[in-house]
Amino acid sequence: MSRLLSNRAKEITPYVPGEQPKDRTYIKLNTNENPYPPAPAVQRLLSNRTAEDLRLYPDPDATELRQAMADCYDLSVEQVFAGGGSDEVLAYAFMAFFDQGDKVYFPDITYGFYQVYADLFALTVHLLPLAEDFTINLSDYRELDGGIFLANPNAPTGICLSPQDIEKILLANPDQLVVVDEAYIDFSDNNTCIPLIHRYDNLLVIQTFSKSRALAGMRLGFGFGNPALLDGLERMKYSFNPYNLDKVSLDVGVASLSDPDYFSTVTEQIVETRERTKNALEILGFHCLPSQTNFLFTTHPTVDAAQLYEYLQEQSILVRYFPRPRIDQYLRVTIGTKEEMKSLIATVTQFLQERT
Ligand SMILES: *Cc1c(COP(=O)(O)O)cnc(C)c1O
Repeated sequence: MSRLLSNRAKEITPYVPGEQPKDRTYIKLNTNENPYPPAPAVQRLLSNRTAEDLRLYPDPDATELRQAMADCYDLSVEQVFAGGGSDEVLAYAFMAFFDQGDKVYFPDITYGFYQVYADLFALTVHLLPLAEDFTINLSDYRELDGGIFLANPNAPTGICLSPQDIEKILLANPDQLVVVDEAYIDFSDNNTCIPLIHRYDNLLVIQTFSKSRALAGMRLGFGFGNPALLDGLERMKYSFNPYNLDKVSLDVGVASLSDPDYFSTVTEQIVETRERTKNALEILGFHCLPSQTNFLFTTHPTVDAAQLYEYLQEQSILVRYFPRPRIDQYLRVTIGTKEEMKSLIATVTQFLQERT
């Protein structure tokens, strides 16, 4: 570590992304990427680009992209914020709505980045433990004295609250920011809670194109909320990185939204493959939490999760293992193509046979 580091930089524990190894070809089921390509309109757009397109600065307001997103949800453009991945939108939310020492609340098991941002901005974190079955105790989320961050569906459990439940949390915390991170909502039977932004000025909904829209390589994320709330995010953006979305990202985002049929076909395919994979794992004795996402969180009564993780990696299948309390006997398995999941099941079967 350099002697020049600030105390903040010295003390922070950065987020650790899932591996992206290049040493050989893996079946990659570890970072919840989409196994299918982005919409064909995205490919057409990229094929038609020239270097000249990059000479000028992009539109810092991202108006065309925000308008396209607003049209999808019957919103006005002022109710949509665009960022470089949902992680960046989250960062602006932590910056805009909290001062050093302020309190934030989130579940003990959730997306790891909330803790990293809370530490980066020196906030006080209160973890609210999930129930034994990894569901959220709604009664914990009443009259809290700080901001609330919820991944819904939650990660890595895959469990989803209904918009009615989210509304209960909003009603019980009218003067606190409630952030609902909907990275996986497109894979869920439950609806987005975006319509609630019309009635609750303390709700910020965040979505991403990294998972359901197969654009993790592009970095596109969105915030939805009351215009006054989003103005807080804009203030941070214009104080930090006004051109946060490059020209290609802006256009790719619009192209992706232009093909809703492709989007729903791919999403339905992943959900169908998820349910088939869940069945196959359960036949092998695994227990899977009820997933509303593009991954399964699974455990086996007699298999050590770390050992299975290692075995799969040796067999060129990458999944995610979190060596953390409560979940260190679980693996998170992204839903790939039908063929990839067949290979997974075959390899897991082989592991079980070799072990006995
Ligand atoms: C993947 C993920 C994100 C980050 O998405 P990006 O848009 O790629 O930054 C945010 N929240 C949750 C819960 C995620 O799983």
